[in-house]
Amino acid sequence: MRTARNRIPLVAGNWKMNFTAREAESHAQKFKKLVAAVSGVEIVICAPFTALHSLHKTLSGTKIMLGAQNIFYEEEGTFTGEVSARMIAPYCSHVILGHSERRSLFHETNQDVNKKIKKALQYGLKPIVCIGESLAEKRAGKTKTVLKKMLSECLVGISKKDAKRIILTYEPIWAISEGEKDMAESEAASAETVQEAQAFIRGQISKKFGKAVSEQVSVLYGGSIKPSNAKKLMAQNDIDGGLIGGASLDPAIFSKVVKLMRD
Ligand code: PEP
Repeated sequence: MRTARNRIPLVAGNWKMNFTAREAESHAQKFKKLVAAVSGVEIVICAPFTALHSLHKTLSGTKIMLGAQNIFYEEEGTFTGEVSARMIAPYCSHVILGHSERRSLFHETNQDVNKKIKKALQYGLKPIVCIGESLAEKRAGKTKTVLKKMLSECLVGISKKDAKRIILTYEPIWAISEGEKDMAESEAASAETVQEAQAFIRGQISKKFGKAVSEQVSVLYGGSIKPSNAKKLMAQNDIDGGLIGGASLDPAIFSKVVKLMRD
């Protein structure tokens, strides 16, 4: 049973490359009704860039916050196809950075993620920073080594004050529903395994920024969260909420997960 803590649970939906702006709008309309009376949890929808402008209007006056799924680390200029923190800041409070799909498909490094974190913070955005090991690394017993390296490289030059505004997310690649396919069945890691990794992450934050900061930083878990496992995950001391991919695409299922993850 988890002990009392000050961190408010946070549930963030990662819509990935799904929904046109119109579809996103209709999804958000349904979802906001379903969670209108829900308290004790912060909710973020991380939508495609093309939907941010309209969702900003749709969600204003609700408790649902809006996030993007990536930014580039420069502000403007000759970077064809990129979108900057400055461009999304009028609409968003959060931004996902360093998702494993960005790292594996678009070759993002910890150094890129570090620059993106700094730029997001400069524009008042809360970075939701993803870290996690691959299946091969897990099988080789390297989970903690990988997490330590990712944390130290992604957080180079971040001050104590800024560290409190960063939301870390442990996303083992093998547990993400569309992740590595050579698992017999892709499913969420056990709550105990996640707790052990997340306690380790908090310990690393404590070493780098001090215990007080580590107790304020939210550490989310992401990887095949659904209504059937949300409550058990949330009962762990170091799991402060979730980053939800597949289960955030259906308003009814997403709202169920949100309700199960509140305090
Ligand atoms: C994700 O990719 O961020 C994620 C957590 O996906 P899913 O919930 O579908 O495993």
